[in-house]
Amino acid sequence: GTVPADDDDAAAAAAAGDEYQAEAMDTKATLQDERKTLPVYKLKDDLLKAIAEHQVLIVVGETGSGKTTQIPQYLHEAGYTAEGRKKVACTQPRRVAAMSVAARVAEEMGVKLGDEVGYSIRFEDCTSEKTVIKYMTDGMLLREFLGEPDLGSYSVVVVDEAHERTLATDILFGLVKDIARLRPDMKLLISSATLNADKFSDFFDAAPIFRIPGRRFEVGIHYTVAPEADYIDAAVVTVLQLHVTEPPGGGDILLFLTGQEEIETVEEILRQRLRVLGGMVAELVICPIYANLPAELQAKIFEPAPPGARKVVLATNIAETSLTIDGIKYVVDPGFCKVKSYNPRTGMESLLVAPVSRASAEQRAGRSGRTGPGKCFRLYTEYNFVSDLDDDAVPEIQRSNLASVVLALKALGINDLVGFDFMDPPPAESLLKALEELFALGALNSRGELTKTGRRMAEFPLDPMLSKAIVASERYGCSEEVITIAAMLSAGNAVFYRPRDKRVHTDAARRGFHAGNASDHVALLNVYNAWAESGYSPQWCRESFVQHRTMRRARDVRDQLGALLERVEIAPCSSADLDAVRKAVTAGYFRHAARLQRDGSYRAVKSRQTVFVHPSSGVAQAPPRWALYHELVLTTKEYMRQVTELKPEWLVEIAPHYYERKDVDEPEPKKMAVAAA
Ligand code: ADP
Ligand code: MG
Repeated sequence: GTVPADDDDAAAAAAAGDEYQAEAMDTKATLQDERKTLPVYKLKDDLLKAIAEHQVLIVVGETGSGKTTQIPQYLHEAGYTAEGRKKVACTQPRRVAAMSVAARVAEEMGVKLGDEVGYSIRFEDCTSEKTVIKYMTDGMLLREFLGEPDLGSYSVVVVDEAHERTLATDILFGLVKDIARLRPDMKLLISSATLNADKFSDFFDAAPIFRIPGRRFEVGIHYTVAPEADYIDAAVVTVLQLHVTEPPGGGDILLFLTGQEEIETVEEILRQRLRVLGGMVAELVICPIYANLPAELQAKIFEPAPPGARKVVLATNIAETSLTIDGIKYVVDPGFCKVKSYNPRTGMESLLVAPVSRASAEQRAGRSGRTGPGKCFRLYTEYNFVSDLDDDAVPEIQRSNLASVVLALKALGINDLVGFDFMDPPPAESLLKALEELFALGALNSRGELTKTGRRMAEFPLDPMLSKAIVASERYGCSEEVITIAAMLSAGNAVFYRPRDKRVHTDAARRGFHAGNASDHVALLNVYNAWAESGYSPQWCRESFVQHRTMRRARDVRDQLGALLERVEIAPCSSADLDAVRKAVTAGYFRHAARLQRDGSYRAVKSRQTVFVHPSSGVAQAPPRWALYHELVLTTKEYMRQVTELKPEWLVEIAPHYYERKDVDEPEPKKMAVAAA
């Protein structure tokens, strides 16, 4: 089909004066034509009729059939937005999808993003009074219940990508089912890419299923003969082989990786190898896409490669069903993704790289056969596929720490959690653990009721531990410092640049921010304050090997946390006493306390789990005897990320329900050989 002109084209046309109008109209006409080619278009009238007749409808259709971008527009055109008085909500499990789809729909409607069409993701609200189509993460809609328990401003709620079964989506199912009963005027659409929609229909009282017939071309599946020892290397080799041997201009490549770090590594290796190959091969345009990719770079994945060149998209499983990229003919699937896993016994949640499910592998393969026959290269054996993979992924609710949603539900006045209408109930043990955790944080009283602290914590769109640290900062007189730390922790892991060839410099620069404090949290605070002192200067960031983009985001998040502080009536206060700051952090993270072992590892005080300081931590050189960490990441080992020294007596002082003297006094079985530096 014809390709819409991108912004650069439009700008060039604008410079050419009169031609601009013509060009803009052209673009619009083309986009409207494109909309009509989508499978959902032919069913528009039937769909609207079904929606008019039924309050709840399950919509099922192959990825790329137009569910996400078209259905909200149809609803708007059909009058569901009541000339601007009501809104259509469409939830997405992923922030990038919400942003990118909103941008696309705004373009299709010829409006400015944030006007009639907007999006809302955590810490970023791109909507206005005018907004009638609102894309948002499922987590944001969950938060909107707190302010508007009947979602009265929405005429239609579309719970999209329902098959993803994220924690927030699963909670939404129960909540929207309930308000649909209270609000007969509200329509509810549950939209999914899987063909197994009966489960959704059953849950929503036998709601009818509307199927959008898919178009999918044949996809040839290729397996490796033997298991790959290093899938990153295998992926790079496969991509380059495809690029060199398959006809040029004949189709783009989509490679599935597990996360940002992996994507950056592969991008770097690919660039190196391409440099060596030089002019011997056609141009290969590398387009990464992952959750934290800055908005201005996200659009690039949708731009076609220049004539003669090929595009390779390096994506997380965001490209599995949430985003459809046209022109993909080859899929390379190493067969892994990052999943959250939770051990309710220890209360430990970690992200780990695990094999995908068979359903995911099928979806991934399908991405290559959208516009013509495709090929999918699975970097594992056929035996693996048949015998080792699970049919479906386990819903997130069954492998997550539930503290955050339990707090939200309590704040909504839902006290009977066991009686909550779950599509698949979480393990009783996880619910219990969440209640225990919230009790230890002081968010619930011994009867399980929300306390004042809990009510305040629920206002913050953060993990309850971080919310608690903020609420506790009032007592320690350091709310300014703690919201800075919270903002830095929420702005993403990429605070520092670490170009491979400059590791020595960057690591030294980074250590400078520690200034004798065995604390990554304090270092984050120092970075932010130094940047603020520089007048928020990008130049300062460059010289300090700090990512300006992350800092800008942190400043944004911090502003919003500041506004929330005001809302919960905590006066801004600042303290030069870093112990006060650490105590406030400890008030949230006391469960993450760990003690240094003789061999340099740590042992979590309560769970007895063995953990290690992440090599990127500023305390890795001189590990303190007692520490707390922000989070665990599992790679080759269980690593603590963002580590801060603490005093063991604080644990008993700050969390007396949780720690007893003996937890912190008890001498280690093996006597400590090295004194803490
Ligand atoms: P579904 O939700 O059924 O998977 P979508 O509505 O997301 O389908 O996609 C319909 C079409 O819109 C696809 O052809 C896709 O390529 C296109 N599209 C979606 N988002 C964008 C975007 N941000 N830029 C360009 N094209 C897009
Ligand atoms: Mg979609």
